[in-house]
Amino acid sequence: MGLIAENLKSVRERIKRACSRAGRNPDSVTLVGVTKTVDPERISAGVEAGLEHVGENYVQEAKKKKEKLDNLKVTWHFIGHLQSNKAKQAVKFFDWIHTLDRQSLAKKLNSAVQKLRTEPLPVLIQVNVGLEDTKSGVHPDELFDLYKSVIHLDGLQVRGLMVIPPFEENPEATRVYFRNLKNLLDRLRDISPTPELLTELSMGMSHDFEVAIEEGATMVRVGTAIFGKRPAK
Ligand SMILES: *Cc1c(COP(=O)(O)O)cnc(C)c1O
Repeated sequence: MGLIAENLKSVRERIKRACSRAGRNPDSVTLVGVTKTVDPERISAGVEAGLEHVGENYVQEAKKKKEKLDNLKVTWHFIGHLQSNKAKQAVKFFDWIHTLDRQSLAKKLNSAVQKLRTEPLPVLIQVNVGLEDTKSGVHPDELFDLYKSVIHLDGLQVRGLMVIPPFEENPEATRVYFRNLKNLLDRLRDISPTPELLTELSMGMSHDFEVAIEEGATMVRVGTAIFGKRPAK
C-alpha cells in the first residue's frame, strides 16, 4: 500500500474511534482531503485509495489541477478566503463553498450561479468564532443578519457553518470554539424557515479533527495527516 493510502486508512480509523466515543455513526462525518500544494498525481492516488472529497484554498491552483484531473470522480470543496473577483471562477470549479462570510460575496456567487448552474450551490457560512482580527469569517453577532440576507438568494443554499479556530498546540484547547460553532448552528436552526437544510459543521483539521468530531463536526478538513507536510511558503 502506498503512503497516501496508508495515511488515509489511519485517518479513517481515527474518525471511527472518535465517532464511537461520541456515539455517532462514522457515515455522518465527511472526510475532505485538503490538497493545497498537492500535485495532481498525488490527488489521484488519494482518490484511488477511496477519497471522495477534496478541498482547495486557491481558485487558480484548483483550476490548473482540475484540467489534469477532469475525469476524476470527486467532490470539490472551496475552503480558502474567497475574493469577490474570483466568485465566478469558484462557482465554475467547485461543488461546495465553505467560506461565505459577507453579503457582497453572496451576491456575486448568486449571480454566477444563475449563469453557470441549474441547481443551487451549497455553501457554508464561515464564522470568526475566535474573534481574531486577522481571520476571515463573519463576526458571530452578525451571523444571523448575514444568514437572513443569503436565504433570499435562489442560487445559494446555506447548509451550515464553518470555522478555522485560532491555532492551539493542545487540541483540547480548541474544543470550546467547536462547541460554540455547534451552538450557533442550533440557534440558526431555531430562526430558519428551512432548518432541515442546516445540517453541516465544517470543523477540525489534522491536529484536532477528533475533538471536532466529538463536538459534532460533519465535515473534517484534513491535509497533512493524509498527504504529509506541505512545503514551507
Ligand atoms: C490547510 C487547511 C486545512 C488542512 O490543514 P492540515 O493541518 O494540513 O490538516 C484545513 N482547513 C483549511 C481552511 C486549510 O486552509
